[in-house]
Amino acid sequence: MGALYALDCDYWCRDCRPSLRCAPQAAGAQLQIFDKGRAPGGRLATRELQLPSGAIGVDHGAQYFAARTPLFQAQCERWRTAGVLAPWRVAEREMVPPSLRPAPAAARLRGVADMRNLAAHCAQGLPLHLHAEVLSLPRRPTGWALQLADGREYSGFDYLLLALPAEQTAALLVGVAPGLSAQAAAARTAPCWAGLFAFTHDHAAKHHAIRGSGEGTLRWLARSAHGPAWVAHATPAWSRAHREQSASWVSATLERALRAILPGLGASVQAVAHR
Ligand SMILES: Cc1cc2nc3c(=O)[nH]c(=O)nc-3n(C[C@H](O)[C@H](O)[C@H](O)COP(=O)(O)OP(=O)(O)OC[C@H]3O[C@@H](n4cnc5c(N)ncnc54)[C@H](O)[C@@H]3O)c2cc1C
Repeated sequence: MGALYALDCDYWCRDCRPSLRCAPQAAGAQLQIFDKGRAPGGRLATRELQLPSGAIGVDHGAQYFAARTPLFQAQCERWRTAGVLAPWRVAEREMVPPSLRPAPAAARLRGVADMRNLAAHCAQGLPLHLHAEVLSLPRRPTGWALQLADGREYSGFDYLLLALPAEQTAALLVGVAPGLSAQAAAARTAPCWAGLFAFTHDHAAKHHAIRGSGEGTLRWLARSAHGPAWVAHATPAWSRAHREQSASWVSATLERALRAILPGLGASVQAVAHR
């Protein structure tokens, strides 16, 4: 859920792990975050949908995550203690044949209220530059500099940590770290069309998460914790095949596929699609 982190730090040791909030600060680093978006979190995003009763948040990218390494588990424990992380427990239906199901996941976790709150918590107290699109990373005598799309430049950084999709990382590093740029360029992000739908009601839904078989249109469906609103992720193959379709066509097609799986849904209140 990163962006571009710039560290003004004299050393970077095993204990100074910039992906975890406070660790670099505790090690004496001064950390700044630059993100071209309007809020921290990147693809760990929450969108608001309008129901007659008011706006509700729907986690649009990840609905949950799992902590598998001791270091990250310890960080999750701190987030739980701070009240911003909780277990994600919902009734789930698997449309995948048992023989093809992945091994049981580690405990599923989610941001309390929604994922954007967790991202906001991580960024709390740090200098956060939003609407700050970084175009290039020149090396100056005082250290690394960040040139922004609006003409501003920030400089004097000892380290840069890029947490971006691989394609964007490759483009930013091409002139300054060709080896890393080539490595990033070799990775390909699979497209994912996501539909967000609000309904008048969804009383008939017995499950609040449904994993598709991996074939056809839908890969994953999850209900908002706050009301009758659903996020529907299309399979990578379907998303690739319809990559250039309009968002309105995709949203109508995904809603039809969603209704075929959940026939008791009420009338549509709002529908949007995002790739
Ligand atoms: C629909 C959907 C389905 C997903 N499904 C899964 C899944 O099944 N499993 C899974 O593991 N993950 C899934 N994810 C992905 C998961 O959310 C991402 O892997 C994770 O959020 C990536 O985190 P990141 O920090 O690497 O990148 P991002 O979350 O993409 O963060 C990158 C940030 O960098 C910023 N940025 C980009 N370029 C610049 C620039 N030049 N200057 C400044 N800022 C810049 C962006 O604004 C953004 O905030 C899904 C995401 C979506 C949207």
